[in-house]
Amino acid sequence: MTPEHAHDALECRKIFERLSEYVDEEVDPGFCGKLETHLEDCEPCVAFLESLRRTIRWIEQTEPATAPDVRREVREALERLRREKG
Ligand SMILES: [Zn+2]
Repeated sequence: MTPEHAHDALECRKIFERLSEYVDEEVDPGFCGKLETHLEDCEPCVAFLESLRRTIRWIEQTEPATAPDVRREVREALERLRREKG
């Protein structure tokens, strides 16, 4: 854990919002590079990305039919987060 987190919370929130797109490989190439650079030294974002990937993989293996819905829900949850706090 890194309590002295060097990153701006705002920056992390921008990354969080795009992680579901990143997992789906839908993020635009320009932002993708920025996102990967951020992930290189931001533990909270990496942890979030990993849990997102694990969740999606697990759902796809156990309930393939519901996977698209779950992806949409994740995206909507992140959208809500942006609207509420942004
Ligand atoms: Zn971050």
